[in-house]
Amino acid sequence: MMHKPDFSSINRLVVKIGTRSLTGENSKLNEKKVARFVENVMKVRRGREVLIVTSGAIGAGLGKLGLEDRPSEIGKLQAMAAVGQGLLMQVYEKYFAKHGQTVAQLLLTKEDFTDPRRLQNLKTTLHHLLHWGTIPLINENDTVATEEIKIGDNDLLAAYVAIHLKADLLVLLSDVDGLYTEDPKNHPEAEILRVVDKIPPGLLRRLKKLSGGFGGMYTKVLAAKMAGDHGIPTVLANSEERDVLRRILRGESIGTLFLPHR
Ligand code: GLU
Repeated sequence: MMHKPDFSSINRLVVKIGTRSLTGENSKLNEKKVARFVENVMKVRRGREVLIVTSGAIGAGLGKLGLEDRPSEIGKLQAMAAVGQGLLMQVYEKYFAKHGQTVAQLLLTKEDFTDPRRLQNLKTTLHHLLHWGTIPLINENDTVATEEIKIGDNDLLAAYVAIHLKADLLVLLSDVDGLYTEDPKNHPEAEILRVVDKIPPGLLRRLKKLSGGFGGMYTKVLAAKMAGDHGIPTVLANSEERDVLRRILRGESIGTLFLPHR
């Protein structure tokens, strides 16, 4: 029997939130969803450092431009992110301000983690921002991130941030309830795994093959593995769960908990 994890006294938390947890049907930013997420963050904020990795720039840009379908052309997606990123920050500013919380925007590329000088700059900036009590809102710099310097996925960006900032816990919030024994779309009998002690060999390969489907599960499990290799536990949960962050920190069994490997 696993001990109930006690995250109540953790100090540094990285929370990643996915596009569908922030936008509505028409891909427009859904202020209600943003407001609720902000409230959830503020409930666990006291006495802690919280860093947010937020998607939604491309989604919000799509909604604002009123385009029918999401284009596949990379240049268009990058231009869309330029429209959406500002809108995203505007909505966050508005709702965090209601709680008297100052936020900061950081747009990063892979080079910010692979170039030692840039990484040091990034860490210094984040340390100042945390020291001042702000909440950094981090996204990939989609408008300039070409293939070579692209992280490509915010689950992984969140893992990088958690690892380099030595976070105590990584939380990935999305529209999936957790990791299932099988793809729940095709296997209604699939069961949710509450605790993953060790990511079984072959799982990542299997998920990669299914790429796209399975709720983008490949990058989520990969992010959990990367964090776990650095001693950081990860919780994958549905952003729609009531009071989701507070309940995770209390050790309630919500979503899937990936235990660290050391
Ligand atoms: N950076 C992208 C955006 O803001 C999202 C990438 C992702 O969700 O993995 O739209």
